[in-house]
Amino acid sequence: MSKAVVSTLYDSDVFRMACRQFDQAADAINLPEEIRDRTKYPRRCIAVSLPVKRDNGAVTVFEGYRVQHNLSTGPSKGGIRYHENVTLGEVAALAMWMSWKCSLVGLPYGGAKGGIIVNPRELSPGELEHLSRRYMQELIGFVGPQQDIPAPDVGTNEQIMAWMMDTYSNHVGHICPGVVTGKPIALGGSQGRREATGAGVAYLVDKYLVDMKIPINGVSVAIQGFGNVGSEAALALSSMGAKIVAISDYTGAIYNAAGIDIKKALTYLQSERILKDFGGGEAISNEQLLETECTVLIPAALERVITKENAPKLKCRLLAEGANGPTTNEADRVLERRGDIEVIPDVLCNSGGVIVSYFEWLQNLQSFYWTRDEVIEKLHGILDRAKESVEYQKRKFKFGRRLAALTLGIARVAEAKQRRGLFP
Ligand code: GLU
Repeated sequence: MSKAVVSTLYDSDVFRMACRQFDQAADAINLPEEIRDRTKYPRRCIAVSLPVKRDNGAVTVFEGYRVQHNLSTGPSKGGIRYHENVTLGEVAALAMWMSWKCSLVGLPYGGAKGGIIVNPRELSPGELEHLSRRYMQELIGFVGPQQDIPAPDVGTNEQIMAWMMDTYSNHVGHICPGVVTGKPIALGGSQGRREATGAGVAYLVDKYLVDMKIPINGVSVAIQGFGNVGSEAALALSSMGAKIVAISDYTGAIYNAAGIDIKKALTYLQSERILKDFGGGEAISNEQLLETECTVLIPAALERVITKENAPKLKCRLLAEGANGPTTNEADRVLERRGDIEVIPDVLCNSGGVIVSYFEWLQNLQSFYWTRDEVIEKLHGILDRAKESVEYQKRKFKFGRRLAALTLGIARVAEAKQRRGLFP
C-alpha cells in the first residue's frame, strides 16, 4: 500500500519537532495506525498575499497564512503572529500545538494558527491597520464564530483584534464580536484576557513549587521574553513574592541578583519600546539568561530556544514553558536524562490565554458579561483540573510530564475523529 506524503508543504525544523512529539505520544498510547495521520496533519492551510499601500505611496505585498489543524472537535482556535521569521511550517506546528492544548484543558475547539511575515515595528499604525484588515478580508470565507476564531500571539495585540473584528462585522452587516478573541473590553473583550496567559503561567508555577516543597517567597525567576506573556508572568510572580532576577527582549537581557523592579521596567518599555539601556541590572546575553542560576526559568518568546547545547547547562529547578515549543526534542531527552528539572510543558503552562479566550467567546455568544473575579475563578478551576489530569497520567503510565500532557490532548482528538468516522 502506498503511503501518501502530506507534509512536504510544512517541512521545517519546527514542524518536524511537533511531528516527532506526536509520533512519540502516539506510540506511547498505541494509537491505532489508521487514525494517526488524520490526527497528526493539518486539515487545511490558506496562504494569502497582502498588498499594503505604504505611507510613502509605495505598495508592499506581505505574505500571510492561516493553518487550521483540526476542526473535528469544534471551531478551530489560535492566535495570529506578526514576525519577520514566520514560515508556513512554523504556523502549522503552532496550529498542531493549539489542537493538543485545547483538547488537554477540555475546550470545545480544534487548533489553528495564523501568521504574517512582517516586522510590525517597521509599520506605521495606519499601515498596520491596512495589513490587519486585508488579512481578515482574505480569510472571510474561512473564519467565523463557528468556524475559526483568531486571537493575539507574538507581535499582535488588542487593537489588531479590534480592526479584524470590525472588518468581519462590516462584511456580515452586524457586529460580530465572537469572530476573534483578545479584543479591547469596550468591544466585547473579556476581563482578565490581557493578563491571562502570563497569570496562568504564574498560577501553575506557584502550584508546582508547592508540590516541590519550595516556598515561593524570595524564589528567583528568570524570564526570556518580555512581551505580553513574559511581562504579565513577571508581574504576577513578583506580586506572589518571587524575585525576578533576569528579563530580556530581542535587544538583550538584564540580570540583577537582588531582583528587577518589574513595574519600572514596564514603564520604561512604554516610552522606549525596547529594554535596551533600561539599566536596572547588569547587561547579559539572551543565551546567558537561559543558563542563569535560578529556581524558575520561563522561556516566554519563540520556539526552540532550549537546545541540546544549552540543556545540559540549565541551572533552574523548574522550567515553565510560557512560549509554545521552546524545547527541542533533543533538549527534552537531555532534561529527561538529567532528571533534576521539573518541566511544565507549553500545552499546559501557557493554556491560560486560550482558556480566557474561550470565556470571551462564550460571553460574546451570550451577550452576557462576567466579572473579573468570575473569570479568574473559572480559569483557576480549569487549570487545576488540567494539572491534576496531567499528574495522574504521568503517575499511571510513568511518562514524563510533556508526554503525559500530549497523550491526553492527542487521545481526545483522535477519539473524536474515530467516533465521527470518515466522510466518504
Ligand atoms: N496565542 C495564544 C496561544 O498560543 C492564545 C490563543 C487564543 O487565545 O486563541 O495559546
